[in-house]
Amino acid sequence: MNTQTKKNESKRARTVLPGTRYHRVRKTVQTSCFLVFVTLPLFNIMRVDLLRQRFYVFGTELWISEFAIVFLTLMFLWILIAAMAMVYGRFWCGYLCPQMIFSETANSLEKTIIRFVNKKMVNAGPGLRRVAAAVLVGIIFLPASVFVTFVFVSYFVPPLDLFHRLLGLDIRTAGGIAGASVTLVTFLDFALLRQRFCTAICPYGYLQNMLKDKHTLLVHFHDPNEECIKCNKCVRACPMGIDIRMSAHQLECTHCAECIDACSGILGRLGAQTVIQYAWGDSGAESAPKGNWYRRIGLRDGKRIAVLVLLLVYATGLSIAISVRQPVLLRIMPDRISLYSVGKDGKIHNHFRMVASNRGHVQASISLSLADLKDGTFDGIDDGKILEPGESVQQQFDVVVPVSSLHPGINRMRIIADVVPGKRSQQFSETFFAPQ
Ligand code: SF4
Ligand code: SF4
Repeated sequence: MNTQTKKNESKRARTVLPGTRYHRVRKTVQTSCFLVFVTLPLFNIMRVDLLRQRFYVFGTELWISEFAIVFLTLMFLWILIAAMAMVYGRFWCGYLCPQMIFSETANSLEKTIIRFVNKKMVNAGPGLRRVAAAVLVGIIFLPASVFVTFVFVSYFVPPLDLFHRLLGLDIRTAGGIAGASVTLVTFLDFALLRQRFCTAICPYGYLQNMLKDKHTLLVHFHDPNEECIKCNKCVRACPMGIDIRMSAHQLECTHCAECIDACSGILGRLGAQTVIQYAWGDSGAESAPKGNWYRRIGLRDGKRIAVLVLLLVYATGLSIAISVRQPVLLRIMPDRISLYSVGKDGKIHNHFRMVASNRGHVQASISLSLADLKDGTFDGIDDGKILEPGESVQQQFDVVVPVSSLHPGINRMRIIADVVPGKRSQQFSETFFAPQ
């Protein structure tokens, strides 16, 4: 075989068959999403630890007290989901949603099992074959449900802890009972509900309906030249069991494009173009990517550009908040039960309180020093106070100064905390009271 023939062969092999275009794209995206779904909690990329009240964002452990970062993260995710619904319709449902991925996988597994049983039990009656297929489906879906539940619960419970509970078949503790219940719900979802969940339970479809407008990406039936041959292939291909020719605004439609593939497959063989297509807006006519690049990616009006700017603002705020975050949260405040007290040696004492939390993974040390206060020392706190990972302390201490080094009344000073590990010294401007 010469080089030119080989090139032609490989070109032919890469050609996407009519009727498979979106299906292939969707299956590739769904496989990637499944890997992301599994990876996020296992590597602390995105996880909430309910027991320890911690958030994990890209490996950074956030305490629930870190309101700014938690708030920015939640707002960013919320605006991202809302923006996606407004611009790309139900792209989430058709391409990214784990429920849809598992439902479609369950559908194809079931079909494969039924085919297998029919082939192997040709002499058995239809009732017996149905029972055999149901048993086989159960045998395969049960471990699959355990795995999916394990990944799902890992978003809320440390995966290693969960793994030990699973190995010990823990169904006595609250965590074990919760895990077993979620497994049962997942199994029933796989076995019985599947895409019915999308229309009966999931609120995202309703939300998308509220957020869409005249520029949202939809799947349309658009047939101005009356080329539709009424073969009903699009209806048979639809996993939601609807007829897209009735309306582009049906609540059940997840914009999965299986009907587009079905139509392009059948009309393609007759030399015509599909009459079902993705289109921006209500008319259904504008299917081909036209105009400027920003229009082609869906930025079709000021509202969308404003949302994009808002997303960028939140993303920037979040990046800044994470980059300036100190691993040790430290606060120092005066303890003003009395303005001052006088020690046995005649020195003046002012009382303070330190609250510190080590939010990092390594041991931390805190060293305090004084500035702008001559001859001042600390009493009641160690130099190089050690904090173990995850430890929080509250400690009272005194700043002590000889009377001769003080102005009567108010003296301004700074308490400087050197924290290791830390990005910089932390300074606390305080007031020291002396007798008038
Ligand atoms: S109508 Fe088409 S896009 Fe909508 S759910 Fe059915 S197959 Fe998917
Ligand atoms: S698959 Fe296309 S040609 Fe067939 S009924 Fe549906 S829209 Fe008409």
